[in-house]
Amino acid sequence: MLSTMQDVPLLISRILSHGSSIHGTSQVITWTGEGEPDRRSYAEIGARAAQLAHALRDDLGVDGDERVATLMWNNAEHVEAYFAIPSMGAVLHTLNLRLPPEQLAWIVHHAADRVIIANGSLLPLLAPLLPHLKPVEHVVVAGPGDRSLLAGASVQVHEYEDLIAGKPTTYDWPELDERTAAAMCYTSGTTGDPKGVVYSHRSIYLHSMQVNMAQSMGLTDADLSLVVVPQFHVNAWGLPHATFMTGVNMLMPDRFLQPGPLAEMIETLKPSHAAAVPTIWQGLLAELTARPREVSSLTQVTIGGSACPPALMEAFDKLGMRVCHAWGMTETSPLGTIARPPAHVEADSQEELAYRLTQGRFPASVEARLTGPGGERLPWDGESAGELEVRGPWIAGAYFGGQGAEPIRPDDKFSEDGWLKTGDVGTISPDGFLTLTDRAKDVIKSGGEWISSVELENALMAHPDVAEAAVVAVPDEKWGERPLATVVLKEGSTADFAALRSFLADEGHIAKWQLPERWTIIESVPKTSVGKFDKKVLRRQYAEGSLD
Ligand code: ADP
Repeated sequence: MLSTMQDVPLLISRILSHGSSIHGTSQVITWTGEGEPDRRSYAEIGARAAQLAHALRDDLGVDGDERVATLMWNNAEHVEAYFAIPSMGAVLHTLNLRLPPEQLAWIVHHAADRVIIANGSLLPLLAPLLPHLKPVEHVVVAGPGDRSLLAGASVQVHEYEDLIAGKPTTYDWPELDERTAAAMCYTSGTTGDPKGVVYSHRSIYLHSMQVNMAQSMGLTDADLSLVVVPQFHVNAWGLPHATFMTGVNMLMPDRFLQPGPLAEMIETLKPSHAAAVPTIWQGLLAELTARPREVSSLTQVTIGGSACPPALMEAFDKLGMRVCHAWGMTETSPLGTIARPPAHVEADSQEELAYRLTQGRFPASVEARLTGPGGERLPWDGESAGELEVRGPWIAGAYFGGQGAEPIRPDDKFSEDGWLKTGDVGTISPDGFLTLTDRAKDVIKSGGEWISSVELENALMAHPDVAEAAVVAVPDEKWGERPLATVVLKEGSTADFAALRSFLADEGHIAKWQLPERWTIIESVPKTSVGKFDKKVLRRQYAEGSLD
């Protein structure tokens, strides 16, 4: 029999209504680079989101489940778009502004974006691209920037503020099916064309509740969260939606993502929490070491997107910023695991640190399994390493196939029974903590054994002279593949390869057969569009690998 419960769809408009009324005084603070930051209450954001929805519908004719793209930094207008577009029934499509122009153009065509809301500061990127973006008819420009760059463009250009001015500040949001598409985000296309992941109202709603749980980020309206992770990258890890549920205040850095401005933001506006990939934190750490600041307000830092080097965690702990490590993907909304040690573990013990360095524990709604090379299920014994597969209400079951086309389910991404194949290799402990050893494509296959590139990198980055290190597989006649260590040294340091190798063996406890015999010093590790080590580029560069 069916339950006797009400069937109220889980909609983003409900999160907006809640946030802009019950938490109406909470704020989105946007850094402006000079003078006072922009402060906007959740009540104002709610009213302006309604105005934006009216403008999109009445003036630009946005209708049905049409995609509306944003090319924006993290700021208040982007939050308004986050709520207005899905709440009116359209689909928010966040464009990753760091993608190469050809990929951006491909994505805009694939999603058939007719309207783009863009920050003025990004017009130098958008203007030359526009002639190649056939579907685009309207560009709405928000925030400072040189509008003359769009002179002569064959699209209609609108000023964000003019467009919403005078529109009603409430909107009769439609009662949608909660499974309707709400937002979409393309993966960065490291292999083949980018793939569109389409989130539903239901998946975002449930994911937001998880983000808010005490065992996840556990923030409240007493917090100010510095949202460095871009809104164009997996919905800023769900923070803009989660915060509207609980009234957490948001500090948005806009385009000021360099270590200096970030340190200044922390010093002057005193956020209690921040979220970003390790690269950002490495930069901030170097900045705080060179120019110490008063940053004691920041007590919680969520790190994810790539493995958190232990040295980084320890350095942040010393500064009083407690790191919480998390794992996820565009396909997982992204919260897949988060590393809150179990209660029985002694505070500040080695055991606690070991738990915190794992990728974390699966929440109730994310089911996980490990699959071995022959397709066999592996036990959760903390030792058997296999490919991680997951399923759950905020995990993708397919990719966007294009307008009017069926969704696509490539065999290498989805199992026959519908689980997502993550492409990540690792172990799971009996109490559900995931430890990733590598991405399947980054693992170094040496003489039939696997060497974890991440383990070598973490051990190297613990050396006081090493700023960054990336390890990739290079072909080897005898072993098939061997590790090549590419190292960025700190300014003025003189460490040589022999010393680094001994350090790996002695301090890093790396087995002798895993020690790299190929080394090279590089200026910086190439990064992907979202700031992760781009090993594809390194592999291409050093494929021949004779660099002893
Ligand atoms: P991209 O492929 O562009 O990096 P995503 O941002 O979706 O796209 O990245 C997801 C991948 O990032 C995961 O599959 C995993 O390999 C890596 N990743 C994310 N978080 C972590 C983490 N905490 N530790 C190690 N790897 C991580």
